[in-house]
Amino acid sequence: MGMHQFKAESKKLLDLMINSIYTNKEIFLRELISNASDACDKLYFKSLTDTSIGVNKADLKIHIAADKDTRTLTVSDNGIGMTKEELEKNLGTIAKSGSLDFKQENQNENIDIIGQFGVGFYSAFMVASKVTVISRALGSDEAWKWESKGVEGYTLTPAEKEDVGTDVIMVLKEDAENEDYSHYLEEYTLADLVKKYSDYVHYPITMYREKSRQKPKPEDAGDDYKPEWETYTELETLNSMVPIWKRDKKELKDEDYNEFYKNRFNDYTDPLRVITSRTEGTATYTALLFVPGRTPYDYYTKEYEKGLALYASGVLIMDKCADLLPDYFSFIKGIVDSEDLSLNISRETLQKDSQLRLIRNSLEKKIKNELHAMLVNDREKYETFWKAFGRQIKFGIYGDYGMHKDLLADLLMFFSAKEQKYVTLDEYIEKMPEDQKCIYYAAGDDAARLSKLPNAQLVLSKGYDLLLCTEDVDEFCLQIMHNYKEKEFKNINAGDLGLATDEEKKAAEDAANENKDLFEAIKNALNGKIKEVKANPTLKDHPVCLSSEGGLSMEMEKVLRKMPGNTEGMESTKVLELNTTHPVFAALQAAQAAGDTDKINKYSELLYDQALLIEGLPIEDPVAYAQLVCDLMK
Ligand code: ADP
Ligand code: MG
Repeated sequence: MGMHQFKAESKKLLDLMINSIYTNKEIFLRELISNASDACDKLYFKSLTDTSIGVNKADLKIHIAADKDTRTLTVSDNGIGMTKEELEKNLGTIAKSGSLDFKQENQNENIDIIGQFGVGFYSAFMVASKVTVISRALGSDEAWKWESKGVEGYTLTPAEKEDVGTDVIMVLKEDAENEDYSHYLEEYTLADLVKKYSDYVHYPITMYREKSRQKPKPEDAGDDYKPEWETYTELETLNSMVPIWKRDKKELKDEDYNEFYKNRFNDYTDPLRVITSRTEGTATYTALLFVPGRTPYDYYTKEYEKGLALYASGVLIMDKCADLLPDYFSFIKGIVDSEDLSLNISRETLQKDSQLRLIRNSLEKKIKNELHAMLVNDREKYETFWKAFGRQIKFGIYGDYGMHKDLLADLLMFFSAKEQKYVTLDEYIEKMPEDQKCIYYAAGDDAARLSKLPNAQLVLSKGYDLLLCTEDVDEFCLQIMHNYKEKEFKNINAGDLGLATDEEKKAAEDAANENKDLFEAIKNALNGKIKEVKANPTLKDHPVCLSSEGGLSMEMEKVLRKMPGNTEGMESTKVLELNTTHPVFAALQAAQAAGDTDKINKYSELLYDQALLIEGLPIEDPVAYAQLVCDLMK
């Protein structure tokens, strides 16, 4: 019998579990029950498509047994079970990558991250010094025993087990100074924990409980008979099993919903908002939805699966029905229960189901309205929501060629340079001075830099507000919207801002005429990097800036360049704008007068590179740039 090693990642995680300073160790029971419940679900699902498996849903159950003499606690189920290979694969490795990194980064934080990464099973090691899993898989006539005392490894040996299913047997750790493991052997503790964490599990969770009762009074008992008591054990179902969404709302507290959410959807933070909806008419359904309080670690990756749990009259038919949620609301978690769906519906027929489409459309409106209500009534929570999922809403506006912009636009928020807080587009427009025509924005990854841009200061100096768009999707989103309530979006570094006074315009025109040759010389010096040199009369203290022409801005170019694939032709058309009243420009004029082409070339390069730096764009040849600056200093 050889010892098998855990995979490296699992080993580290296990180590963290064993030495956990985590105070909420009791959740191990929730994790094991949830696995048992999953195993029952799997067996049940299988029986729906494979009629040779005669499973009666009513027979599926989870059983808990504690034995104080041996210090063992056992959680059993008659679900699908595991083969030898599955024991090895499922309990010897962590399925999902990234989980360990997260755990290690957050090692010192006392938060319930256990369970959300599919590391639930290992939580048994928080309370147990030895864990034995005896399992017999559906369709197999042999059983296997997996056993481990921790990081040293585990053993796999043949075992005896009469029925299909799994027993998880834990030998509890000895009590230590601050840790009372023995109380996990007490019936009332176990019953409490089941009520607390697993009440809505839809299979019975049973346990024998010791009770006492009065012995029946003997018929011949005399007047001096004193009642006698006896103890007996009785099998009790510990959970109520009634799904929370079927219960009367008035009976339920916020905590009930929060506990349900965290338990069912493996989260450690309370949801930001609970959405309940019961409709009758064209689409008859009950929905219980949640807006999570934080971004799931895999949310913006391909691994994330959107979807709502779908029930037909209280029976789970699909755990993650993706068709119920549009992508832009993919962060919503929850369940939908409808009486109009058939139990034997398959994934393929679901897609075509008109009932489902009705539900989807109705949910979409409901979610939108609830989010907007949160924005209006609970600003602080909405901002938390926005930081967690706002990006997805922006993708929603940008996606499908802007088809959903009308639905989603009033959910948008951006950081305001003037107010130094998040504002909605409606709020922006409300505060616009009468002479302001456009909604101004600056795009780039650093808000502090953006508000220092020459054009940002120009916009702000006019009393206009400026939206600081620091996410890569922002500008794409605004461009596809084009305007909001007839106010056009305007990138402060694209095209003419139209903010110069007539006098300033005239001055720029004159300067351009007077310096035609110099502008030409600068353009030549920059050799194709820019389309044009212009005089900008509103630059104040800044000698130079860059702007773009056409639909592709410099920031968009930057974003697109980061994407994989061919980025050829994805260049913005740049214009170098000069402050003709700046001493630096006088230096260029002097070089021109002296016929010093070399100097003009060098200064042009320098100015261009500076403009790139101000825009937060990389300079092509940093070494050459440094050299030029050094030459100046010598
Ligand atoms: P998760 O439940 O998130 O997948 P766990 O660490 O809790 O992660 O469990 C790992 C895997 O072990 C499960 O996905 C399942 O395949 C298997 N497993 C655990 N407990 C049982 C059980 N009682 N019956 C069948 N399979 C189980
Ligand atoms: Mg689990």
